[in-house]
Amino acid sequence: MINVAFYDTRPYDRVWFDRLNTGKYRIKYFESKLNEDSAKLARDCQVAVAFVNDQIDAAAINALALEGVRIIAMRCAGYNNVDFKAAYDRRMTVVNVPGYSPYAVAEHAMALLLTLNRKTHRAYLRTRDYNFNLNGLTGFDLHGKTAGVIGTGRIGQIFINICRGFGMNVLAYDLFPNPSLDVNYVSLDELLEKSDVISLHCPLTNETRHIINAESLDKMKPSAILINTSRGGLIDSEALLQALKDEKIAGAGLDVYEEESELFYEDNSNENLHDDVLALLIAMRNVIVTSHQAFLTDEALHNIAETTLQNLDDFFGGAALKNEICYFCVPGGKKTANCPRLKTGRCF
Ligand code: NAD
Repeated sequence: MINVAFYDTRPYDRVWFDRLNTGKYRIKYFESKLNEDSAKLARDCQVAVAFVNDQIDAAAINALALEGVRIIAMRCAGYNNVDFKAAYDRRMTVVNVPGYSPYAVAEHAMALLLTLNRKTHRAYLRTRDYNFNLNGLTGFDLHGKTAGVIGTGRIGQIFINICRGFGMNVLAYDLFPNPSLDVNYVSLDELLEKSDVISLHCPLTNETRHIINAESLDKMKPSAILINTSRGGLIDSEALLQALKDEKIAGAGLDVYEEESELFYEDNSNENLHDDVLALLIAMRNVIVTSHQAFLTDEALHNIAETTLQNLDDFFGGAALKNEICYFCVPGGKKTANCPRLKTGRCF
């Protein structure tokens, strides 16, 4: 039996892992996020299953290695919270779930856009109070408007198709444009200047951190709506707040937030919110914040559990690891050609 330490567990996480685990793994579910201290919970475990807001830095990786962990299985696509150099130095394998339901995330991006544009969040509150007045609820037709999509990978492509279903024109920006994709790639500046809706679907990297900042917000139309279902660090939140106050853009739908790690997924309803920027963003009528829930569909949870367990079966069965990420393989890693994975299918 292989012991698995499963961090940051919520009730909905367990459903599919328990259903699909054939008995090969003894899964110890922990509510704590993974960090240097909670790594000690992984005693006698060979696996740590981790999520988006776990703090997988060098200290946590060293502590996991001391407990006997050999593989960190990210049950998500993003891995910006992993110190890959430290993982590589400790010969700690890292795998992820690259695409579990791009539809879930792209559909949530559109849900945020539709809500903000047609102000259904405000209408819902009004009619509950028998206030049937329509003042302030005017939106615009999406048909004929321009969607600017930053990042045209799995999720970005589906968002493009959804936008086209609404009769929107699409402009795209990607550092690595996809030649087989039928989309009008433009420069980032042109996208910012011409789009009525801007949706972020690129990963958080050194190049993309604060890709939306005071300068880029200045370039957007005052009527533009910004949607972020990717990673909070893509947006300079203080600059966004200022732009919204100054009416430099018309609204923002945020499923992710720069400083979300201590707040999101937790019930803080009995405490004061000490993050003033987030508190002010939430207070604005033209901002919707959801708690990193874009992935949260039944299909996505099923696929996350299935791929994570398959990653572990491959690891312990000695098979090639198609979802392995390491210091060399991580996008932007400069030494990709040196990675043993090219010959053996595994980085170690
Ligand atoms: P993907 O890897 O398929 O696509 C990412 C795209 O971004 C690629 O086309 C890549 O070339 C592009 N890109 C990389 N660097 C760039 C840069 N500097 N500028 C512009 N484009 C760049 O990823 P995906 O599956 O479509 O996921 C996109 C992101 O969505 C993930 O990185 C993750 O952070 C986020 N995500 C969020 C949730 C959620 O619940 N909110 C769930 C899953 C994924």
